Amino acid sequence: MEDTEKIVEEAAAEAQSAQSSRALYEVKMKFLGRTGKLTALLKNMKEIAAELRPAFGKRVNAVRERLEELFAAREEHVKARELAEKLASEQVDVTMPAKRQRRGALHPITKTREELCDIFSGMGFEVFEGPEIESEYYNLTALNIPADHPARDMQDTFYITEKFLLRSQTSAGQIRLMEKKKPPIKMLSPGRVFRADDDATHAPMFHQMEGLVVDRGITLGDLQGMLDEFARTMFAETAKTRLRPSYFPFTEPSVEVDVSCTACGGKGCALCKGTGWIEVLGAGMVNRKVLENCGIDPDEYTGFAFGMGIDRIAMLKYGIRHIRSFTENDVRFLEQFRD
Ligand SMILES: [Zn+2]
Repeated sequence: MEDTEKIVEEAAAEAQSAQSSRALYEVKMKFLGRTGKLTALLKNMKEIAAELRPAFGKRVNAVRERLEELFAAREEHVKARELAEKLASEQVDVTMPAKRQRRGALHPITKTREELCDIFSGMGFEVFEGPEIESEYYNLTALNIPADHPARDMQDTFYITEKFLLRSQTSAGQIRLMEKKKPPIKMLSPGRVFRADDDATHAPMFHQMEGLVVDRGITLGDLQGMLDEFARTMFAETAKTRLRPSYFPFTEPSVEVDVSCTACGGKGCALCKGTGWIEVLGAGMVNRKVLENCGIDPDEYTGFAFGMGIDRIAMLKYGIRHIRSFTENDVRFLEQFRD
């Protein structure tokens, strides 16, 4: 009987010092739980004389009721305080001025690249990205660039080892794809390329976008039709293209593609040096030897390929003078490309 009084006192003291509902719950379990102190008392019932047992049982039950009331009262108090604290900490002053978030913008190269991918994806091209470190075979040999070609010169290409180099053109990816996939092929290969070049319009690292179409009956006319569509979408509704004969080892015939000047529309200005035309990309019909190198029969299939500098396209589109502006990370420059 004395123990029951002691338990009530103890429980009251511990409940009073419990500062959170979690702590209070633990105290409650300590006394009223299945292994709690009050339950333990009931287990001693058999040690009590039989005639005293009913009175003892009644007493324990009365104590249980008192403790439950005590805990409930304390719980109400603790919960009310917790709620008040929560409300105070989550209070929002809706009249306070909002913090300004500085929003970034896509880099002009990224924007141009995405725009180019969009245009060509719309024409059914699939995007394929090859590795930046290439073997001499994929970057040069398979593209019909013979051992004595100037593109092999150490001054143009960054060699890593005797056989591996930083790709100097995204065309290397074409070979990898043609080896794996048989025609019809319609692929687009954007990415970074590296050359030992450095002046106002050339940087040692720049971005290229290469396209390749291989199927039965593909002609140079298909190439020009596609380029006209590209120029109209990318530059201006009135943009025209012009093909000039050129030479690339991996295409035959090869052409340079000019687009009517983006600044003067063809009348002649400083940008186009008075000619009305701006050179935009190189292209041509895929050389028979390149198709053969990839196990594609050049008597059955023909194809065209084109490659353009994404940096150059971005410079033309946005009127950027110096290629280094792309890598200087001057915020005043970059901020102008925010949509
Ligand atoms: Zn012009």
